[in-house]
Amino acid sequence: MPDLDPFLFGEIDPPQRLLMGPGPVNAHPRVLRAMSADLLGQFDPEMTGYMEQVMALYRPLFGTENRWTFLVDGTARAGIEAALVSLVAPGETMLVIDFGRFGLLLREIGERIGATVEMLSVPWGEVVPLEAVEAAIARTGPRLVASVHGDTSTTMAQPLDGIGALAAAAGAFSYVDATATIGGMALAVDRWGVDVVTGGLQKCLGGPSGSAPITVSDRAAAHIFERRHVERGIARDDLVAGPGPRIASNYFDLAMVMDYWSEKRLNHHTEATTMLYGARECARVALGEGLEARYARHAAAGRAVTAGARALGLTVFGDDRHRMANVTGIYIPEGVDGERVRLRMREDFEIEIGTAFGPLAGKVWRIGAMGYNAMKHKVLITLGALEAVLRAEGYKAPAGAGVDAALEAWG
Ligand SMILES: *Cc1c(COP(=O)(O)O)cnc(C)c1O
Repeated sequence: MPDLDPFLFGEIDPPQRLLMGPGPVNAHPRVLRAMSADLLGQFDPEMTGYMEQVMALYRPLFGTENRWTFLVDGTARAGIEAALVSLVAPGETMLVIDFGRFGLLLREIGERIGATVEMLSVPWGEVVPLEAVEAAIARTGPRLVASVHGDTSTTMAQPLDGIGALAAAAGAFSYVDATATIGGMALAVDRWGVDVVTGGLQKCLGGPSGSAPITVSDRAAAHIFERRHVERGIARDDLVAGPGPRIASNYFDLAMVMDYWSEKRLNHHTEATTMLYGARECARVALGEGLEARYARHAAAGRAVTAGARALGLTVFGDDRHRMANVTGIYIPEGVDGERVRLRMREDFEIEIGTAFGPLAGKVWRIGAMGYNAMKHKVLITLGALEAVLRAEGYKAPAGAGVDAALEAWG
């Protein structure tokens, strides 16, 4: 075999794109710097000290006092899968509050587990009323009620106050996927009374994908420890197989992951050191800014994108009352080729905006302003570029109107 020229592919040197889609977004430079720090052994006291700090740093981001607040190694989906596989067993019923693509993902994972999945669905662009959740719980008698908080596919945020109590009153656990909102909209895990909530770094936390923060209530943790099993062939005297059905995944067995994050430090996987550094810095950046200020910044960015789009004569997708702060759906106007616009945004302006899935594919663009990119100048630059591209594509956009309206709406 001929030798592969080591210079053939060049050093990694990506273009400086401004990522204004539904995620991932550009990482905060402090996060990237933290991720270049030297590695540690997984039981090094410095390393376990950082793990403790991460637990403390993520509690306020989730709005919880939960002891079990830690990281699942993997992208946000790893957190979702760990939560579901640990909370629902084959044959048990899982009720999904479904208002977009990530509701469908919950169903897909539930079905793989072998759960009986009941869907409580509304059309894309709407959210599910609490009374409908209550009725569906009464009708289906679930073991688990699962929802998404902000679904980037529809740009809607599901109201969650009262959901946890409804589930608990019916003897069910509750789960929420807050990947797209953590760090950008207030999470109130304790007030919602939700048992398990998971997130990711690559949306409003302004980090790379690859780590899934998770928080687990004491009640859910007790259930998960009940279901624990012994890793075969490894002496773990303090572990006994619980009475329930064994969790089908080793990597996502939260009882084992929590044993590793506890003072027992029982070996499971090798903690992804570099991702932990990144997750830690994401939280430090967010708490350093102040959570209220951070949520207000995301809300201002969302208002500005919405106002700017409307001033350009464009129509914004979905119910205004339930819009996420950080991602906005905009209808592609009649006669305009949506993919050509995205191409010109990328090639002429180095700006990425999002396409859409499912029933919205080809109909809507999604503009995100999250984390390090939820900034006034980045929103203005994006709207200015969009206007120029739309005009070049023959759409009659009023000159300067988008940027002017966005500036005013930012406040
Ligand atoms: C972006 C997003 C995810 C992404 O999961 P990854 O595994 O990190 O790609 C999951 N859930 C929601 C609601 C999201 O918006």
